[in-house]
Formats: sequence, C-alpha cells, structure tokens
Amino acid sequence: RKEELAELKNLPAETKDGHRVEVAANIGTPKDVPGVLRNGGEGIGLYRTEFLYMDRKSLPTEEEQFNAYKEISKKLENRPVIIRTLDIGGDKELSYLDLPEEMNPFLGYRAIRICLDRPDIFKTQLRAILRASAYGNIKIMYPMISSIEELRAANAVLEEVKTDLKEEEVEFDEELEVGMMMEVPAAAMTADILAKEADFFSIGTNDLIQYTTAVDRMNENISKLYKPFHPAILRLIKRIIDAAHKENKWVGMCGEMAGDARLAPVLLGFGLDEFSMSAISIPEVKEIIRSLTLTQTEEIADDVLQLETAAEIIEYLDDKLE
Ligand code: PEP
Ligand code: MG
Repeated sequence: RKEELAELKNLPAETKDGHRVEVAANIGTPKDVPGVLRNGGEGIGLYRTEFLYMDRKSLPTEEEQFNAYKEISKKLENRPVIIRTLDIGGDKELSYLDLPEEMNPFLGYRAIRICLDRPDIFKTQLRAILRASAYGNIKIMYPMISSIEELRAANAVLEEVKTDLKEEEVEFDEELEVGMMMEVPAAAMTADILAKEADFFSIGTNDLIQYTTAVDRMNENISKLYKPFHPAILRLIKRIIDAAHKENKWVGMCGEMAGDARLAPVLLGFGLDEFSMSAISIPEVKEIIRSLTLTQTEEIADDVLQLETAAEIIEYLDDKLE
C-alpha cells in the first residue's frame, strides 16, 4: 500500500477523463518545503506567515521576511507559492504588539483587520513579498476578508507599495495574482461581488465552519458540533465556486477539509481547482482523484447536496469510497 502511494505521488492530479486539478501543500516555515516536494506537492497553497512573527521580541524586518519568501519560492522552482499576509489574533498572540484582551478573540481584532489598522506592519510585509516575487511564482492572499470594502482597502495599500517600489526601481512581478481567503460567511454570501476584484479565492474551511455553525474551533466541549460535512458548509462551498467560475476566477481550498480523502470526490464535483493540505495527505488525495471520472464526481456532488444531515452525507460517501 505504501509503495503504491509512493509510486503515484508524483503523477498529476488528474481524473480518468482528463480533468486536471492542482494538489498543493500548506506550510508554516521554509523548513517544511522538502516534505512538500517529497510527497509530490505541486505548489504551496497556503504559507502561514504568522510563524515568522511569533516566538520573538519584535516584528520581523523587511529583509528577514524577504529572505524567507525568496528562499521558499526559489526552492519551489516556479511552482506557485501563495503567501498569506499576517493572520495574527484569534488563537495566535504577539506579545510585543500589545493586542487588547478580548471577550471573543476569533470575532475580534485579527488578521486583515489589524493590517488595515497598522499600515506600517502591512506595508513592510507587502514590500517583502513583492520583492521576493521577482524570484519565483508568488501570489498574495489576504486572510479574514469579510466585505468588498476590506478587499479594496487592502488592494489600495498594495498599490501604494507597488508605486513606491517602481519609484525605487526595485523589481517585482507586475502580473502577480492577488486573492483572498474565503473563511467568513459574509464573504461567502457575497462571493459574486468579491470575485470581480479578487484574482482567486482559497476556502478556509477551518474558520468557515466555525463562523457558519457558531462552533468555536478550539472548544472541546462542543467539538461534536464542529461538522465539515454539515449541509450548510457544503452548500456554501458550492456557491463560492460557482460565483468565482462565473467571473473566470479559480478557487482553491486550504482548510483541513481539502485533505480529507472522503470529501475529494465532492469537492472535485463542485469544480474545485486547487486542493492545499498537509503534505502527508497529498498521495492519498491524488490517488482518489486519479481513480474517478469528473462525471462520476459530479453525480456524487449532486447526490450529496440532496442529503439532509452530516451523518447521512458521511454514510453516503463512505459507501461510495468502498
Ligand atoms: C482556515 O481557516 O481554514 C485556514 C486555512 O486558516 P487558519 O487555519 O490558519 O485559520
Ligand atoms: Mg483561517
């Protein structure tokens, strides 16, 4: 079994009838890259940059960040690398920033909300990412966007940074794609509007499930209620993908759901273009993708959307996978 997967891991993620998707990996530091390549990852679908900012006494400088981003994209040799801008707050703290104590940190001062409030921090990171984009295939992704105003505000800062770099005659990839995480229900419900101004979406199911079902992703007392297979979640995912495709934009997924082999047929059937997961899940997900036709997955996706509970959906999918 292990050998089978080892043989298959470097083959393309393509259905039996020739529909190709991308299978990429989530990473937290440049040290994770060798594992991605070993497992057949075709790119980085999510680089969680907050780890560059954690476990230290002050903000990382532009140079430190530039070096990390450049190292990763060089190692990936032109495969895509999606760099997510700082997603701090929620469960991730930065002692030196003196963030306020909050009743509901996950609903509070976090991620893009902090960055839009602190252009000094945001611009330093964007400069470092743009400079590194001259060395590989980098894309930028904003976390926790909940409205078109936020996307526009973030893009306005990015434009300022690009103008500065041009004035300084510093090279960067002018065609670099700029996308956003889809992890807030308000964004999911306005995906049609956002798709006009984002180059791509990546669905962050860890937060999307938490916010849609009102279930804290860290609270063990209610972990039974944290349901990736909830019909509400599957319907939202389908909506997001349809809305993006209408605008000819591609959609990835970088939440844990993307690495769940049982869900791969459903996500393929919905039309998901990119799957990003822990490197160790890549061979198994590729195996499932390669064992089905797109038509089969579309039928599975249609069936699943008719079911009424998470339990029924799991039962149906377990049955199919046999
Ligand atoms: C998510 O919310 O699904 C996600 C990928 O981001 P994080 O887990 O870093 O919040
Ligand atoms: Mg998230």
